[in-house]
Amino acid sequence: MFETLSDRLGGVFDRLTKQGALSEDDVRTALREVRVALLEADVSLPVARDFIKAVERKATGQSVTRSVTPGQQVVKIVHDELIAVLTGEGDPGALRIDNAPAPILMVGLQGSGKTTTTAKLAKRLKERDRKKVLMASLDVNRPAAMEQLQILGQQIGVDTLPIVKGEDPVAIARRAKTQASLGGYDVYLLDTAGRLHIDADLIAQAAQVRDAVNPRETLLVVDGLTGQDAVNVATEFDDKIGVSGVVLTRMDGDGRGGAALSMRAITGKPIRFVGLGEKMDALETFEPDRVAGRILG
Ligand code: GDP
Repeated sequence: MFETLSDRLGGVFDRLTKQGALSEDDVRTALREVRVALLEADVSLPVARDFIKAVERKATGQSVTRSVTPGQQVVKIVHDELIAVLTGEGDPGALRIDNAPAPILMVGLQGSGKTTTTAKLAKRLKERDRKKVLMASLDVNRPAAMEQLQILGQQIGVDTLPIVKGEDPVAIARRAKTQASLGGYDVYLLDTAGRLHIDADLIAQAAQVRDAVNPRETLLVVDGLTGQDAVNVATEFDDKIGVSGVVLTRMDGDGRGGAALSMRAITGKPIRFVGLGEKMDALETFEPDRVAGRILG
């Protein structure tokens, strides 16, 4: 088990003399512990470093109120700074789906949870937003992935575009668009092909599909347990095809959620949703407060 940051700081400050204000030394000692906590939560080193600097500037010289210990006070400053970095603009759960039929492009690596997330999102749009939703898989190299989306569609009561053998991804995307218009759908979700690694083909294909349908949202699905890798994937997808938001999956796992902080700090992209399990309901709007609590332990 991880030691929580509050525990760590409690120990540190017990050894310090009580003063009216946080001294530079107090803050520096405390921040060593914060740094360890961040790294244990899988926050990348440069992000942890910058974060610590920002906290140091805010904490030094702050007067210690009587009601809290210096340790609690530093934890609060760290917590507030975490929220500041994690919070994006606007409501992360509000997707731009006004002009029907609105295309949403789902991109990401194979195994990230992209197909599952596509179906979870479709269910959410159908049930919470009362939208008529169509889903289509563009993963022509993996028939099993196409069938998986179809099966999930049946499970959640959302239509999927019929599979036509031999069609290329752009043709499928165009057919989805036509079907969505003719069928009176509000939204259509395109589950693009995934690969184990980003390669030129994968990016070229996603870019062609993007150009064919002009998506209102391009959501990148990344495995929240992969830390720095998730951030590298996001940087590359954003550079090459542009993403409007990130979905972090497997946030139900053992990880401490540090990828979320690195993701925001490095890519600047808003985290829109988090995946919290395999079930179709296990998708929630991203809440900075919950992730901050998790990183702090
Ligand atoms: P894709 O290759 O990116 O389309 O990945 P899939 O959607 O097929 O997901 C791969 C595996 O991860 C499946 O077994 C999913 O049930 C599982 N999965 C997806 N999202 C989550 C999540 O948020 N938490 C957990 N625990 N498992 C997930």
